[in-house]
Amino acid sequence: MVKVLCTDHTLGSLGDGRLGCLDCGRTHCPHCDRYYWPKLGARNVHKQHMTIQMEFPNAKPFEREQLQTGICSSECWDKYLGG
Ligand SMILES: [Zn+2]
Ligand SMILES: [Zn+2]
Repeated sequence: MVKVLCTDHTLGSLGDGRLGCLDCGRTHCPHCDRYYWPKLGARNVHKQHMTIQMEFPNAKPFEREQLQTGICSSECWDKYLGG
């Protein structure tokens, strides 16, 4: 994935169930509407049979969420769950 400057993000499906920018590939946070690069990068294509907890055992919960729901931070996660 090439990291390019992108200011006018185009929201769409990234193809793995998450939403993000179709132009630069950044993940979209459904809570704060921010576009960002997930801290953990991307899931290893050879480890997709594993759970994300097995692949990243030492990651913080929100860091895994970045690769799953797209929620960007523990702050957003709390607010997202709390409504
Ligand atoms: Zn973009
Ligand atoms: Zn957020």
